[in-house]
Amino acid sequence: MANSKFEYVKHFELSSTTHLLPNTYIIIRIDGRSFHRFTTTHAFTKPNDIRALNLMNAAATAVFHDLGGEVVSIAYGVSDEYSFILRRECNLFDRREQKLVSTVVSIFTAYYVSLWPTYFPSTPLQRPLPTFDGRAVCYPTIENVRDYLSWRQADCHINNLYNTTFWALIQQGGMTAQEAEKELMGTLSRDKNEILYSRFGINYNNESEMFKKGSVVYRNYGAVPDSSVQADDKDEGEVVESASKSPAETQKGKSRSQQKREAKKLAKAEVVIEHVDIIKDEFWEKRPWILH
Ligand code: ATP
Ligand code: ATP
Ligand code: MG
Ligand code: MG
Ligand code: MG
Ligand code: MG
Ligand code: MG
Repeated sequence: MANSKFEYVKHFELSSTTHLLPNTYIIIRIDGRSFHRFTTTHAFTKPNDIRALNLMNAAATAVFHDLGGEVVSIAYGVSDEYSFILRRECNLFDRREQKLVSTVVSIFTAYYVSLWPTYFPSTPLQRPLPTFDGRAVCYPTIENVRDYLSWRQADCHINNLYNTTFWALIQQGGMTAQEAEKELMGTLSRDKNEILYSRFGINYNNESEMFKKGSVVYRNYGAVPDSSVQADDKDEGEVVESASKSPAETQKGKSRSQQKREAKKLAKAEVVIEHVDIIKDEFWEKRPWILH
């Protein structure tokens, strides 16, 4: 039967395709579905199961490798969520939102499941299986992206201080969840620090950096020596025409050889995971290649 009779249905799709705003940073955030339940059925250590955080970090690293050097510039993970910041120039899938979000969610989930036995060798995966949702938001400026990341890291700190105190009251203080919740109602940060210190001898400052700050993943471009990459000689000195390119693709004033060298350096750069402050300027001043 001629396919043309049915082909009109394609137009329904075309008219609803969202192309994310060009020349903006795309942030794709994934989040575990019903992980409150999932972490219980899989006996996660509370409040922070290190194996699970390492597994999240491994799945996030896989997203970097799978999408290639030019796509994700930095990612930030905490609890059951991960945010991937795509470069402003990213043109993957013509910036179609559904393709981007579904692909990132799917890569992440596939690696989370396939790497599970490495991180949980004695805990078989059982139903409900781990699944994730995803969303994309465009941010036009570096300041917006940094504020977004600061928002997530501040959230990490607030939740972790709460959870650390909550679980100390239960695990070491013998309270029920309801009693611990009541105890913490209306408390400020300094009250929680005080409860931890005076009742349980815990100095919150000494808690693991991964728990307090979350996980920052990026390509350590700055650590690759210039001498280790060479562009092809014939391109030397040829300045790239920007007129034929969209503003997002334009790298003004850079010769093609320079662009090639930078791309090679990026591909060589190791993907690293750190648990550091990304709210203050220092992290960004030392790593100017991440956001530009
Ligand atoms: P939703 O589907 O709406 O996201 P959810 O149950 O996943 O529902 P979240 O707000 O995403 O709700 O919370 C994630 C839950 O998973 C929290 O209860 C958190 O304590 C738990 N969790 C996530 N990672 C870990 C971990 N590494 N160790 C222990 N618990 C974790
Ligand atoms: P894209 O990422 O754009 O979807 P693609 O390579 O997946 O790229 P598709 O148009 O989705 O392109 O085509 C799917 C490909 O997988 C085709 O080459 C198809 O022949 C092959 N394929 C899918 N299912 C089977 C199957 N069961 N047996 C053999 N080949 C298959
Ligand atoms: Mg939620
Ligand atoms: Mg969740
Ligand atoms: Mg969550
Ligand atoms: Mg396909
Ligand atoms: Mg197909």
